[in-house]
Amino acid sequence: MERVVVVGASAAGSTTAQTLRREGFAGAITVIGDEPHLPYDRPPLSKQVLLGSWPVERTSFGPSTTYAEQGIDLRLGSRAAGLDLSRRVVELATGEEVGWDHLVVATGVQPLQLREGHHLAGVHLLRTLDDAVALRKSLVDASAVVVVGAGFLGSETAAAARQLGCEVTLVDLAPAPMAVQLGAEVGWMIAELHAANGVRVLGGSGVTRLLGESAVEGVELADGSVVKADAVLVAVGTRPLTDWLVTSELPCGDGVLCEDTPAGVHAAGDVARWNSARFGVSLRLEHRFNATEQAVCAARRILGQDIGFDPVPYFWTDQYDARIQVYGVVPPDARLVVVQGDPGARKFLAHYVSGGRVSAVLGWNMPRELRSERALLTAI
Ligand SMILES: Cc1cc2nc3c(=O)[nH]c(=O)nc-3n(C[C@H](O)[C@H](O)[C@H](O)COP(=O)(O)OP(=O)(O)OC[C@H]3O[C@@H](n4cnc5c(N)ncnc54)[C@H](O)[C@@H]3O)c2cc1C
Repeated sequence: MERVVVVGASAAGSTTAQTLRREGFAGAITVIGDEPHLPYDRPPLSKQVLLGSWPVERTSFGPSTTYAEQGIDLRLGSRAAGLDLSRRVVELATGEEVGWDHLVVATGVQPLQLREGHHLAGVHLLRTLDDAVALRKSLVDASAVVVVGAGFLGSETAAAARQLGCEVTLVDLAPAPMAVQLGAEVGWMIAELHAANGVRVLGGSGVTRLLGESAVEGVELADGSVVKADAVLVAVGTRPLTDWLVTSELPCGDGVLCEDTPAGVHAAGDVARWNSARFGVSLRLEHRFNATEQAVCAARRILGQDIGFDPVPYFWTDQYDARIQVYGVVPPDARLVVVQGDPGARKFLAHYVSGGRVSAVLGWNMPRELRSERALLTAI
């Protein structure tokens, strides 16, 4: 009997397993995940879970019975420590070996830390359900919160902390929140949104260290000033979780290089990197929809379908009453052209134009209108 082993039991991993079953795979499926929890969804962690509007159980993709009924051997609390490509086995941290005919790498990413200060009480990272529960507890008790890093995760957390009544400072080296992902113009609009909601936004500010004896008391900035804090979220980026593959000779370089994997080996989700002919760039996306789309593709390839993978990326973020959605890829040199609505009213549609073509479309509180704009990108 053929056996598929999936390493990583989250969005990409569980979607791969369930798609295989739904679409007729009759062999054995084992999903190996190092977290203790049943697979769950991450986007609500920085939104509904931090705000306390959802119980944590609501993030779950389903009960354990679903996996059992589908004949999926779900091994939680189990870490893959190595891979032997020639013998086709995954080596677990316990020393056990699990053989496979098809392997799917879906191990995601890990948050980066600052050089020091993470041992202090009140300092948090945000990736897992446990992280979100601990951060919420801290925010509920905190009065002054500093968020280091104003990407989507930091910006969403700053919004949640503010809505919980904390005094919030959002610090980043970039001039404005999410400017790296969405360009300076949209970054300034997001900065204004936060300022209007009472967040102090410090762009162009590096953090030198976290201060405190046993609990965090403040954050020191590069100019020597100190921002008082009794809770800190560090959201300064991530790295793909490929350490367990280091001795395996599986081609990696900021993610698993999908085009170079040997037959029978696939990658999906945040850990996977591929060449997009549509956008002319190498992509590794940390976007929830991509995890599903790429997992479905991996499952279908295992089922023998000769299909390509070159989607139109999709990403959304929720901050206060703003839902910002983007289809496509935003090149650093792209020009923002507002095509509908009014940025001043925080309701508009815009194109990112680069090299004479639209490479991304953005909607700020215009979900219905944005969907039809996506057609501009599928034609590329
Ligand atoms: C707080 C938060 C909010 C987000 N909000 C949004 C959003 O608004 N919009 C959006 O588009 N995207 C959002 N994302 C991103 C989205 O959640 C990810 O793109 C998605 O979770 C990726 O799924 P994945 O399965 O590839 O990786 P992950 O969800 O990271 O899952 C990988 C799993 O593999 C496990 N693992 C790692 N190494 C091993 C090993 N050696 N052995 C066994 N198991 C291992 C990990 O513990 C983890 O459980 C958010 C992410 C976070 C953290």
